Amino acid sequence: MQKRSPKLIKSVAAVALGIAFSVSGFTASYAEDLMPLGRSAMEIKDGVYPASYFPNTEILGADEMRITALGTGMPNQTKAAVSISFYVELGNGDKFLFDVGTGSSGNLFSLRPDFSKIDKMFFSHLHVDHVGDFMGMHVGGWLSGRYTPLRIFGPSGATPELGTKSYVENMKKAYAWDLQTRSGALPDDGAKLDVTEFDYMQENVIVYQENDVTIRSWPAIHGLDGSVSYSLEWNGLKYVFGGDTYPNNWYVKYAAGADIASHEAFLPPKALATYFGWDLAQATYVSTRIHSEPKAFGKVMSAVKPRMAMGYHSVLSPENYQAILEGVRETYDGPLVLARDLVVVNVTKDNIVVRDANVDDYVLPPDVGKAYIDAPRSDEKSPSDKVNAGKWKGYTPPEMPKK
Ligand SMILES: [Zn+2]
Ligand SMILES: [Zn+2]
Repeated sequence: MQKRSPKLIKSVAAVALGIAFSVSGFTASYAEDLMPLGRSAMEIKDGVYPASYFPNTEILGADEMRITALGTGMPNQTKAAVSISFYVELGNGDKFLFDVGTGSSGNLFSLRPDFSKIDKMFFSHLHVDHVGDFMGMHVGGWLSGRYTPLRIFGPSGATPELGTKSYVENMKKAYAWDLQTRSGALPDDGAKLDVTEFDYMQENVIVYQENDVTIRSWPAIHGLDGSVSYSLEWNGLKYVFGGDTYPNNWYVKYAAGADIASHEAFLPPKALATYFGWDLAQATYVSTRIHSEPKAFGKVMSAVKPRMAMGYHSVLSPENYQAILEGVRETYDGPLVLARDLVVVNVTKDNIVVRDANVDDYVLPPDVGKAYIDAPRSDEKSPSDKVNAGKWKGYTPPEMPKK
């Protein structure tokens, strides 16, 4: 169990007040110690977990993987189902984001994570429901503890302008104003983006290998060339994150041996037609040619035989849930979770535990570490003299507190 020391509490308060200080005796446990005051993280013993997952109240086991669905829905998101994103935490302290669909950053923040460690995101493809919160995650993480460059891994496209590198570089140009206003106030390196674009056609090739974690990619079939799936292997555990796809050979082959195999389980044609008000032909095309309907998902999982299959990419209203479950069960009778937002899956060699996260609507921003506070910053920016000359004399701000 880790506890905040009184010294640490004092230092956090000082940071909140913007008071410059230096504290000796900071330890590595500081960054791990990110629970709201009043909560203590506990070790899980003998595989007995609390019924709900309260963020920052459980110490992840050294051999354990925790997967949290940050977004499981559609591009036209709802409060209960934002667009696709999965957050993977490992017992070695590493953290990974797979896709960052629109709306998913709110769910990430609701976990009050240590943003200094959230510096790697992997894109399956460049649909907005998979990468739409890229900008918010870049800036939000920078504001909340990340003082190093954000690393992005993603596929090439059929042409250079359809690849991940082009997406990131052009996005960065589009929010240049935002980045400039914050640079100086925030650590310089946190603004930086480091893109690794790889060949979308590569088959089960390593795209990331550090700290005993290996991530591979293979192609998916969806819309245009340039959708991929990933596997993450660490410590004898394997998580597969499926990009949007028509059922494909590569997934069946390379997802084999997965502990958790996630893959879309899109609404079946009739339910999709009802949901969107589409005619059945359009719904059938989208559900069974562009995506994988539940029956197709079930067939894939019957071939892959993971320890647990995880379906996502719908809005699981009661009627949608029923339609998807019935479709899956026609073709697959193995272990299954149809993921909603903020479903949490703990994985060890002995256990797979599926729970809901219980989060605060008005969660506090996460604490930041000393390295973030001390990280180099350039000069703070401000409007020009000609704009500042327009300041209204009818208001006088309070004196600045002494540093
Ligand atoms: Zn897509
Ligand atoms: Zn999608």
